[in-house]
Amino acid sequence: MADFKIPKATAKRLPLYYRYLTFLHNAGKQKVSSTELSEAVKVDSATIRRDFSYFGALGKRGYGYDVDSLLAFFAKTLNQDHLTNVALIGVGNLGHALLNYNFRQTNSVRISAAFDVNPDLTGTIQSGVPIYPMDELETQIKDQQIDIVILTVPTQAAQDITDRLIKANVHGILNFTPIRISVPDTVRVQNVDLVNELQTLIYFIDHYSNQPKTEEAAD
Ligand code: ATP
Repeated sequence: MADFKIPKATAKRLPLYYRYLTFLHNAGKQKVSSTELSEAVKVDSATIRRDFSYFGALGKRGYGYDVDSLLAFFAKTLNQDHLTNVALIGVGNLGHALLNYNFRQTNSVRISAAFDVNPDLTGTIQSGVPIYPMDELETQIKDQQIDIVILTVPTQAAQDITDRLIKANVHGILNFTPIRISVPDTVRVQNVDLVNELQTLIYFIDHYSNQPKTEEAAD
């Protein structure tokens, strides 16, 4: 990450911008207006201009933003020129889907190891990723310099595994289990609770269906 602070909400939108700018770049486009970006990424243009202002004067009035320099800037800020090795623990339905998911879209993240307790899975390679038994967790994390782990194990196994990850010096956990795992301040957790997200969506559709809003537009 770049060594300056940007608001969390802005940081969350960076990958969104980055993905669309990559698309524009690949399509040979050289400039983009905040209105055009706004329509594509569904973030209002005032928010986009404010977000971009944190990085200095990147846009020119009447011209828009220069796609290549924005892209270079985001790539640097998002550490896209580094390859991050990520591990996945729990190769069930969801874990399998994530192993199959093409993280290469981002060029900078790959799942380099997966772990499971099921002896039918360990020792095999799934979607190009080797599955290791849990007793190799600490050594593989160390050898492969893994700092980030995706957790797709059953709920009851989540905290014990988290404790092992903390001891193994992992700093980021993408937690797909529905429980809130306890970690020290040095470890960052992003929770992805798919059931909860779906229920929230259903709630909003049921209660506010006259005023559709994206999450970004609402904050
Ligand atoms: P999902 O919730 O992903 O749909 P599932 O229903 O296929 O999964 P779960 O019982 O949730 O299966 O288990 C997910 C995976 O986690 C399985 O492959 C299981 O073998 C593995 N697993 C279970 N306990 C542990 C553990 N303590 N450590 C590592 N992996 C585990």
